Amino acid sequence: MQKEQISQIVERVLGRIQTGDMPVSTKMPANPHGVFAEVSEAVSAATMAHQVLVHMPLEKRREIIANIRRRAAEDVNTLATLAFEETGLGRTEDKIKKNLLVIHKTPGVEILQPTAWTGDSGLTLMERAPFGVIGSITPCTNPTETILCNGIGMVAGGNSVVFNTHPSAKNTSAYCIDLINRASIEVGGPDNLMCCVKDPTIASATELMHFPGVRMIVVTGGGAVVKAAMNSGKICIGAGPGNPPVVVDETADIAAAARGITLGASFDNNIICTDEKEVFVVNSVADSLIEGMQANGCVQLRNHQITRLEKLILTPDREHVNRDWVGKCPSKMLKEIDVPFSGDPRLIICDVDANHPFVQTELLMPVLGIVRVADVNQGIDMAKQAEHGYGHTASMWSKNLDALHRMACVSNVSIFIKNAPNYAGLGFGGEGFTSFTIASPTGHGLTTAIDFTRVRRCTLAGYFRIV
Ligand code: NAD
Repeated sequence: MQKEQISQIVERVLGRIQTGDMPVSTKMPANPHGVFAEVSEAVSAATMAHQVLVHMPLEKRREIIANIRRRAAEDVNTLATLAFEETGLGRTEDKIKKNLLVIHKTPGVEILQPTAWTGDSGLTLMERAPFGVIGSITPCTNPTETILCNGIGMVAGGNSVVFNTHPSAKNTSAYCIDLINRASIEVGGPDNLMCCVKDPTIASATELMHFPGVRMIVVTGGGAVVKAAMNSGKICIGAGPGNPPVVVDETADIAAAARGITLGASFDNNIICTDEKEVFVVNSVADSLIEGMQANGCVQLRNHQITRLEKLILTPDREHVNRDWVGKCPSKMLKEIDVPFSGDPRLIICDVDANHPFVQTELLMPVLGIVRVADVNQGIDMAKQAEHGYGHTASMWSKNLDALHRMACVSNVSIFIKNAPNYAGLGFGGEGFTSFTIASPTGHGLTTAIDFTRVRRCTLAGYFRIV
């Protein structure tokens, strides 16, 4: 599904919200499917579900996943609204887009293709088999998106999953898990294909990471949880933080760059790990870029206004973010620091030096540091440094092939986007599938069902070489 189609659905859904003919249910079902008090109960229910699933035909898996997509798409407005209401992060209309993206563009069973070799010695097949029960730890920034994306990929691979969801998104996550299990049951699939603990904590996440019978741990979050999972002794897929830099050089289409960076960096108030987090622009085109961004709804702060914003959104030592302001709208911040504005600005931009925390720190807020550089090579080198070796995401606006090539090689990231908003790299307005677990620390990149399966080889010597 292309970005335009997703946008049309969003418009329709939002239109219905505004006219009031789509009530938004905020009630959890009395006995949600897949939600348990203890990790041990969730693992044992998921183990039984896995046993049922692996004895069903592949066609049934396809049917279950198709119905999960259908039911989630029908209820996307509730998923997005619940996430916004519970976490207080981002923008509901953007959450609808993110959910539709994972619902429609997360690969299913079709991505698991066998490999075959035939020759004088017979036939060898390599096929993808499930791990069994997978433990998945999810972030508050994309709660239902990560559950749907991980869940579809894991079930496509024949697994069941126990989620330890983020405490500040636990009700939204439980609602999503209940919806998924009901969709499975509706087409004859098992209940408890996806489970979670009702009141997740770091202790329950740790328990899940070490629980016997959980073969693989998939974590999506900050550096601490990735480190904990990598030390768990289990097979681990770790998707950690990023600080995606953007480089803009003098050959770029500056009007397109101004529009694209504004759209990308403001998407869901910048809480997505792949969103643009800072810009390095060649000095000769910096003023045009900033003017273009202002024309697209950005508010530029100056001098003492920047100082006031620092005091608001950073801790007093300027080392960390004030979490109260993560994912909040620019209008709230501007009001708080007494800067006049009109309408609903998408993004706050600040012309700062490269060492500024708005450049070096992953803010997860609609606040973008813009740094002037002497030339494109200096921009690429500074971008590399600001990415801090996460190997996550970077982007560039340029028509100079040599510069684009250098940035692609030097940045060495899981996702590199050229001349488009970063969300194009997630398949939103760009080609390819989507994933909301981008595992740079463990080298998996954008994860799919392939990563949630193990490889089995099956050899028949002497037969089935038929030509
Ligand atoms: P977070 O690290 O605070 O929480 C993520 C999950 O890990 C939560 O369920 C939390 O309860 C758990 N957790 C945290 N510390 C833990 C520990 N020491 N032991 C066990 N469990 C622990 O992250 P968040 O604020 O929810 O999400 C934002 C962060 O996640 C950002 O840094 C963002 O870049 C990153 N992220 C990365 C990706 C990716 O695909 N690479 C996707 C989304 C978010």
